[in-house]
Amino acid sequence: MNEQLIQKVRQCPNLPSLPSIAVQVLDLAQKADVDIAEIARIISKDPALSSKILRTVNSSFYGRSQHVSTISHALVILGLQSVKTLVLGFSLVTNLTKNKSRGFKHITYWKRSIFSATAARSIAAKINLVQQEEAFLAALLQDIGMLVLDQVVGDEYGVVHEKIKTHRELCEVEQESLGGTHAEVGGILAEQWKLPPLLSIPISHHHKSSEVSDPGLKKLAEVVELSGGCADVFVDPEPAQAIATVRKTFLERHQMPEAEVDALLADIGKRTKEVASLFEINVGSTQEYEAILKKANEALIEITLQSQRQATTLQQINIQLKEQATTDALTGLANRARFDQFLAEQFALSVKMGRPLSLVLIDIDKFKSVNDKYGHPAGDQVIRVIGKLLKTAARQQDVAARYGGEEMALLMPDTNRSTAATVAETVRRAVGARPVQHEKLHIPVTASFGVVTFEKGIPFTQPGQILKAADLALYNAKHSGRNCVKVFSMPKPKPKAA
Ligand code: GH3
Ligand code: MG
Ligand code: MG
Repeated sequence: MNEQLIQKVRQCPNLPSLPSIAVQVLDLAQKADVDIAEIARIISKDPALSSKILRTVNSSFYGRSQHVSTISHALVILGLQSVKTLVLGFSLVTNLTKNKSRGFKHITYWKRSIFSATAARSIAAKINLVQQEEAFLAALLQDIGMLVLDQVVGDEYGVVHEKIKTHRELCEVEQESLGGTHAEVGGILAEQWKLPPLLSIPISHHHKSSEVSDPGLKKLAEVVELSGGCADVFVDPEPAQAIATVRKTFLERHQMPEAEVDALLADIGKRTKEVASLFEINVGSTQEYEAILKKANEALIEITLQSQRQATTLQQINIQLKEQATTDALTGLANRARFDQFLAEQFALSVKMGRPLSLVLIDIDKFKSVNDKYGHPAGDQVIRVIGKLLKTAARQQDVAARYGGEEMALLMPDTNRSTAATVAETVRRAVGARPVQHEKLHIPVTASFGVVTFEKGIPFTQPGQILKAADLALYNAKHSGRNCVKVFSMPKPKPKAA
């Protein structure tokens, strides 16, 4: 985040402040020997706050069968954590709703906050996360940085909001125009308020939960981020994308099927109405999830098709990349890596099935002098032409490869010695039959061939031995005057001395 913006935020005189009752309750709750009676006394001093807490505790949101009539009773029944969350939530919302923002729609802000908070609690419960209260509060406050930025940069923040249609686009535009995001700014405020990391980290990372490294906070940050997506379903004027994103995240992260996600969203929609009225937040007109889904269905189908198309394109690119990684660029033949792999596979198969496996190794004769006499590009053309001849000779089950600089190989599964020798001889003739043409040059070329067949009676145990044998045969061909085919045979055992 831009240092200038950080300073501006830190020095801003009219930042939202933590209500004094919240400060007192937080302080007391942090003490080693927590005095529950004292906390109850402080909360009870604020009758409006107390009655809101009691109404909430007795609402279906908490689903308690027992009626709770006093704050101390609430503290016993719900526990300190829940009551603390409610004090913070209620007192902050009361405070903050008083300042009217300039740069963005206030009503949308609060609508998104209360939908997020309810969603976070529901999601946390659904995935059995212990910190359900923190999830609620962090989600309620996740966008508080927007209120800060509205104070700090003023009209400029209005310009930012004019550029975006949905909350999802906000961070990018904020980063570009202001050098920081509302999430980061919210994190700074939470730190100034001395809120614990359980709240400040999910707030500062609610658009990048993947960057939270602390395993104790990661799940909570993910829930808060996802809760924002759920809120978008109810807040966005065109919610299809939000629905698709939420469904995808639930599926990937929690293996939750679409129908279950839809049921959860419908439940969040219903619960939020109740929570919003407890918090006295006006959420304006809001449709039920079922109606939203019905309207978004056509757009959702289009989004699904589009992502399927993208997946297909990606798959094709992957296939292409894989092919590139196994293909020699000059000749289009298999490269060395692909050849080595095929040789190993075919050797194992040949051992298992008891079938012959033949290899022809080809080396262009006096190729250095071709380069010297006609130039390197002409040499390349010679390699290309011989590569093409080899490809033509290869059957479907064979692999023709460029083994090294001017060495090529043809591996022929299920092929006996005489067939392999015949194929090699055919290619040899084809190579020497006519000079290679390159621009106006006519380049006479020949090549030498070493052939080996792994078959009954050949005691190889490793694929490398086949290569070595082919190389020996090739060496033999070179020493027999080049432009010929030599077939490897096992050296005869020395006759025993009489
Ligand atoms: P020999 O008949 O004994 O095989 O003689 P040679 O000249 O072909 O043998 P050597 O292996 O010494 O030389 C191979 C030459 O092939 C050397 C190298 O510059 C050339 N070469 C290797 N890769 C390429 C390539 O991709 N393009 C071109 N133009 N030349 C290459
Ligand atoms: Mg060579
Ligand atoms: Mg050579």
